[in-house]
Amino acid sequence: MAVNIAIDGPAGAGKSSIAKRAAAALGYIYVDTGALYRTIGLNALRRGVDTKDAAAVIGTLADVQVSLRFVDGEQRVFLGEEDVSAAIRTPEASMAASHVSAIPAVREHLFALQQNIAAQNNCLMDGRDIGTVVLPNADVKIFLTASAETRADRRCRELAEKGMPTPYDEVLRDIIERDYNDSHRDVAPLKQAEDAVLLDTSALSFDESYAAVVKMIKERIQ
Ligand code: C5P
Repeated sequence: MAVNIAIDGPAGAGKSSIAKRAAAALGYIYVDTGALYRTIGLNALRRGVDTKDAAAVIGTLADVQVSLRFVDGEQRVFLGEEDVSAAIRTPEASMAASHVSAIPAVREHLFALQQNIAAQNNCLMDGRDIGTVVLPNADVKIFLTASAETRADRRCRELAEKGMPTPYDEVLRDIIERDYNDSHRDVAPLKQAEDAVLLDTSALSFDESYAAVVKMIKERIQ
């Protein structure tokens, strides 16, 4: 049986960088499920579809082929045969992902893909509903959070490093709006699973957060 570790939490809590490093240390694959929603969002944007218009977004799903490939343990996300791993990282794609992820048909469209990867691989999977919906029987569930200000600050630095400098106020506003969308939608809202352990990283450095996560995992799977 594959070992599955679910890491959920709001945008910018440090899930992806921590999970990526922890997965490498454990020899597991790291699965970033946000990339899937971002790809559906990007595809809708490219087609000029209003990402808040459920019927129009659903209309784009029939011929959208989203897949994940793992190269040396590194996840790449594909839209058809195009590697969109970089293109999905813009603030526009973030907001589009937040919109399309509230549409039940979009979540259903991506559900089996996520479950199949987890059934076949030891993995750390990060998202919003992994511990609650996608992998309710995960071996370890962690809910990672931090204050909105801390998360905005981290996101700003990350965007600047990627050559997309964005004003702090704009990033903070986006984070607050995405938090609201993600936790108030009807399907699979962002919430801590009852059996998840909570880690607030607001006052922790990256290394401290990483060490705390690895400790939680090791305590539970060994
Ligand atoms: O994690 P990331 O910020 O890349 O996710 C982008 C958006 O995708 C989130 O704001 C959320 O709306 C959506 N998402 C989701 N369920 C997941 C992962 C991401 O609804 N499991």
